[in-house]
Amino acid sequence: MGKIENNKLLLASVLGFIGLVINLYPIHLFANIQLILGNVSYVIAAILLGPWYALYTAIITVTGLMMVWDSPHVYFLFGVEALCLGFARRSHLYALYASFGFWLFIGMPLFYLYIFLFTDLPSSHIAFVILKQGINGLVYACIGSLLIILIPSFWHFKNKLKDAPRRTFNAQLTYTFTLVITVALLLAALLFNNQFIERQQALLYQNIENSADHLGLSTQAYLNSHTQAIKNAAAWLSLNQYAEVEEQILLSQLHTHYPGFITMLLADKQGTVISASPASLLSSLESQPEFDIRDRSYFVEAFINQRHFTSPVFLGKGFGQDPIVAISAPIYRPDTPHQPIGIIEGSLDLQEFKAIDHVNTGSHSQSIVLIDKNRRVIYASDNLDITPLSEFSYSVPSKNYITPFPMLNIAHSDNMAPEYVYASVKLENDWQLFVLNPFRPLVELVEGMYLATFAILFVALSITIYISHVISGRLTLPLENIANKFSTTPQGPHSEYAVDEESPQEIYTLFQRLQQSKSQLIGYQLELEEKVALRTLELERANNKLQALAEKDPLTGLYNRRYAENKFPAIQELCQRSDEVIAIALLDLDKFKFINDTYGHDGGDLTLKRVAELLSQEFKRDSDIIVRYGGEEFLLIMPLCNALKIEGHLESFRQKLQETGIELETDKVQFQVTASIGAVIGNGSFNASLDEWVKQADINLYQAKNSGRNQLVFTTLEDS
Ligand code: GH3
Ligand code: MG
Ligand code: MG
Repeated sequence: MGKIENNKLLLASVLGFIGLVINLYPIHLFANIQLILGNVSYVIAAILLGPWYALYTAIITVTGLMMVWDSPHVYFLFGVEALCLGFARRSHLYALYASFGFWLFIGMPLFYLYIFLFTDLPSSHIAFVILKQGINGLVYACIGSLLIILIPSFWHFKNKLKDAPRRTFNAQLTYTFTLVITVALLLAALLFNNQFIERQQALLYQNIENSADHLGLSTQAYLNSHTQAIKNAAAWLSLNQYAEVEEQILLSQLHTHYPGFITMLLADKQGTVISASPASLLSSLESQPEFDIRDRSYFVEAFINQRHFTSPVFLGKGFGQDPIVAISAPIYRPDTPHQPIGIIEGSLDLQEFKAIDHVNTGSHSQSIVLIDKNRRVIYASDNLDITPLSEFSYSVPSKNYITPFPMLNIAHSDNMAPEYVYASVKLENDWQLFVLNPFRPLVELVEGMYLATFAILFVALSITIYISHVISGRLTLPLENIANKFSTTPQGPHSEYAVDEESPQEIYTLFQRLQQSKSQLIGYQLELEEKVALRTLELERANNKLQALAEKDPLTGLYNRRYAENKFPAIQELCQRSDEVIAIALLDLDKFKFINDTYGHDGGDLTLKRVAELLSQEFKRDSDIIVRYGGEEFLLIMPLCNALKIEGHLESFRQKLQETGIELETDKVQFQVTASIGAVIGNGSFNASLDEWVKQADINLYQAKNSGRNQLVFTTLEDS
């Protein structure tokens, strides 16, 4: 699980509290459908910080939902979602794909289980609610992912989880497209579906309100006309005095005109029925001689209280057994205008309201319920399955359902989902008319739209994935090909999909530039190779020069002392092995200081050069080594020489030098130079060290100088 880091915990907490506040105000879409956006918080936490911080953020965030919905399941469902998103992130799965997978395989099944076990939601609603939850999940996963891309402080959060594997351009492009399309499509669908459904609801409500008004008026008119008929009949009977037979005929005639009455009767002051329609009822009454209607409210109200009366609904007894509404009025005599002599009564046929119900052209789906002031049902549409006379009881569904009109449940009072939406009107006599419209079709409409949205999303995403693949292919395949073409070790088989006229401009330009660069590079390379060869040659020459400089004296071009010392051991060894002699001569120019003083340093130098030239001319055997040994001292090493001739050769050189004039170019002056020579000859075995030979020669040289200069002193060395 790793160590808890403070800045991560802080970020997770802040995200959690922002989410909590947002979740306190879910956006109502339709009925009980709410759009939850606060959960974006733990999507962000999952992407940036991983599963455990996401769980922590989710617990805070979801508390907001818990406060609004009051159902603890949210902790479980959304907690699991946060963990899944976090773990998916660790496995480097994009959040939206993870969310898709979660809702499909875990979220929706879990939610189904929860609804099935803990709520009374009707099964018809379950699919819809689950689908809505899934769509909501995708919406906030998208928004969370986009926010991370859009908000720099999220994107650059320094401790965020890193993408381990490098992703292909194809995957990146596809995901970005998918995000944008999903969020755009879902939000647009939610918004437009919502607008559409709101309009639909408004229309529906308008419709049922109109129906309620219209049916209310019809019912009122129906009641009024029948009340008026009873009133008029009472007035008529009060003005004229009829025989019983005549009254019976009048009553029957009246009944024919008002078939809405199921029965009609005239009663005297004892409540005894004296006329009835249909007339057959009267004969059936003869079998019950005790029968009277004195205790009936319609008699009491009309006869005792002397007023026109419309009864609540009640079950007729004795005089027909149907639930009826009685309308009655008192009958007077002209001579007793304040004391009724009886009543006239008509029982309304409640089935007559069916006619009103049927002429309700408003909608086939509408049903009506008419209740009296005691809330007893006078009439209810057949499909409602409510018997007249029963008390009209209904319940109001869950407060989570928010619609612009009132709702009620009849069949299942504990149903969380509303069965009907309704409008009602009150009639003048305190009756109430309800017009009901089932709620389910509206839900089905929304359901259909959500399903269509999902289908469109699915199609759009399939197209997106394909298009991204094609577009990224246009970029990556030519790039790969270009890379292969310009690489010295091409990877994989050479694809056919190279740069062509379909390739994007940028790729084509890149291709051209690379090609230019490549030919430039080849040019540079050739040029460079040439330069290197040239430099190497120069270097070799310089090296040779340096070598010569190290071995030779720059002024005279003769070998220097170091060369002599390096070379001598090999010469000596050779002569010793082959029992040969070595002659060594040391030459020192006489009074050279004087030449320098007289002819200048340049004159001295010139003299040294001339002496060197003469030496080179006189001693030109390959084995002879002529060395400028010091300032104006020269050393001759002459191995394998003729012991008899060497002294003469040296002597002839001394004379030649003496005769050679040295001419200064500048002042055309000529002067002579002489040399004293100390020379020795000995077997190679005399000594391995050059110094020892030179020492012996130097002794002779000293002697030559002492004997007046310009002489040769030559001795033979004996092996020591
Ligand atoms: P001596 O007959 O006794 O040999 O007399 P010297 O003047 O030749 O002998 P000394 O050793 O006193 O002087 C040698 C001079 O040779 C001294 C020095 O200035 C000169 N000399 C040595 N090397 C060079 C050189 O490379 N160029 C020139 N111009 N003079 C040199
Ligand atoms: Mg000297
Ligand atoms: Mg000298």
